[in-house]
Amino acid sequence: MYVYKLLNRFCAPRIVVYNSASITRTKMTSTSQEPMPVKGTEESLPDYKTVDSCIFCKIRNKTVPTNILFEDDKFVVFPDHKPASDNHFLVIPKNHIKNIRELKSSDTEMVEQMLQTGESVLREKVPEFDKELLRTGFHWPIYSIFHLHLHIIYPPPQSLIGRMIFSSYFFKSVDTVLQEIKNQ
Ligand SMILES: [Zn+2]
Ligand SMILES: [Zn+2]
Repeated sequence: MYVYKLLNRFCAPRIVVYNSASITRTKMTSTSQEPMPVKGTEESLPDYKTVDSCIFCKIRNKTVPTNILFEDDKFVVFPDHKPASDNHFLVIPKNHIKNIRELKSSDTEMVEQMLQTGESVLREKVPEFDKELLRTGFHWPIYSIFHLHLHIIYPPPQSLIGRMIFSSYFFKSVDTVLQEIKNQ
């Protein structure tokens, strides 16, 4: 489908080669080859819901190299690999959530935090950004990547394709999504 091809112009990182056998979860703090002490001190990584074939889970797990702009215990922010504007990045939850259709009213706070996180990353790059020119939202009804991600785009896309993909035909604003899940 043409629209699907267009959507794929955005979002998906270039690197998709992946050998599942080679992926192991590693502790980022450990650089030593020495065996880790065993005695009950092992810090466990938070148990995030992961899908092996998901490119964004791989980015979160650092098994695909990406320029991560921000990370905390809930979210990761990184640039869209084909930016539609000067500032275009994605906020993903660390938990694998497929898309906005999986969101429930209990996710309201998470969606609000995704927006706050995206805005704070943008503020580092454009301290006085004009909220009127900020485009944020989620794909709908066609999904190019099946891991929930919030697009932060500033200023709005100039190209025809960018304006179409991130228009209300294919893209739902944070406010709309919040309204919908609150009413569930
Ligand atoms: Zn996207
Ligand atoms: Zn995922």
